[in-house]
Amino acid sequence: MGFLAASLSRIKPSATIAISQKARDLKTAGRDIISLSAGEPDFDTPDNIKQAAIDAIRRGETKYTAVDGIPQLKEAIVEKFKRDNDLTYTASQVTVGTGGKQVLYNALVATINPGDEVIIPQPYWVSYPDMVLLAGGEPVFAETQLKDGFKLQPDVLEAAISDKTKWLIFNSPSNPSGAAYTHDELKALTDILVKYPNVWILTDDMYEHLVYDDFKFVTPAQVEPKLLDRTLTMNGVSKAYCMTGWRIGYGAGPDVLIKAMSKLQSQSTSNPSSISQWAAVEALNGPQGFIAEHNDVFKQRRDLVVSMLNQAAGLSCPVPEGAFYVYPSCEGAIGRQTASGEVISSDEDFVTALLEAEGVAAVHGEAFGMAPHFRVSYATSTQALEQACERIQRFCASLR
Ligand code: GLU
Repeated sequence: MGFLAASLSRIKPSATIAISQKARDLKTAGRDIISLSAGEPDFDTPDNIKQAAIDAIRRGETKYTAVDGIPQLKEAIVEKFKRDNDLTYTASQVTVGTGGKQVLYNALVATINPGDEVIIPQPYWVSYPDMVLLAGGEPVFAETQLKDGFKLQPDVLEAAISDKTKWLIFNSPSNPSGAAYTHDELKALTDILVKYPNVWILTDDMYEHLVYDDFKFVTPAQVEPKLLDRTLTMNGVSKAYCMTGWRIGYGAGPDVLIKAMSKLQSQSTSNPSSISQWAAVEALNGPQGFIAEHNDVFKQRRDLVVSMLNQAAGLSCPVPEGAFYVYPSCEGAIGRQTASGEVISSDEDFVTALLEAEGVAAVHGEAFGMAPHFRVSYATSTQALEQACERIQRFCASLR
């Protein structure tokens, strides 16, 4: 046995974080880089939210708080679930963590025993499988198809369920594809889930508010109330409220699960930042108008990016319903050569050569479990996006 834990050898570093950092480092070193890698809004945190944090500091809200959240934030979350999702929770059924990531992590580590299976639709956010592996579980991948808009089909879900299944991780709108499920699409999945009482549903609703073209967001326990007592509805303020750095995520679910998650958090990080919690209270209770304003901009950017990528040789990009990602296929570039003679044999080669040749950073699809694709985040200025897409077109045209 070496010094490091064996469990660590089962996981990889987060690709989204690694590539975003690489882009930052190259920029600092003076290279002309446009990063389409980071999944975070370019808009600043709204002023009323910043002010709430400043006020909290001045009031001396700078001490430990209850491990899984101050009562005021739990109340704001209970109200949010009522208002937006038609879900009724009590404050004791709510837990607040250091970003959505910690909430997911707590849920998995608090419930998984060796050999437990967790169904993860592909493409998936990079951290789901590794969190499951760290918790000692087995990820079971459920494939989706580009022709279905990357949405999990009921028969594929049912085939993935076994008597060892503990969780389905569901994510709509999806990181990385942007795919979001309509009421009927989700109902077709929940109809399957009601038949299998051993399966719990971990729904990552982080991109709830980022939907376009009048798309109506729905979450599993809302569509099928029978699932409420085995669903963890997870969300956070990072994306909709432009608060990625503040690190506040939350979840609501049955008491037994929430208590277990809190117990785990009491032995790891304790409470999320007291100041960030007060900012999150203002985010959830304060004016919501800026979300629609941001969405107008995101929608224009999505349409721009989809159209420009579809004009690039060898790329094909569907129009997603939400989030701020598109997930084009680069199948047409595979097997071709760059101007300097390197063969593109994978999506990782594609994004590496693109960064080298044109200074555009994107994340390879293999990291999200579906290749050959790459993820583009359009949460960056429209001008930079236009330039980045021109560079991608030029890169694709240069392949022989
Ligand atoms: N969720 C964002 C992304 O996918 C932030 C980075 C991370 O935590 O993965 O880019």
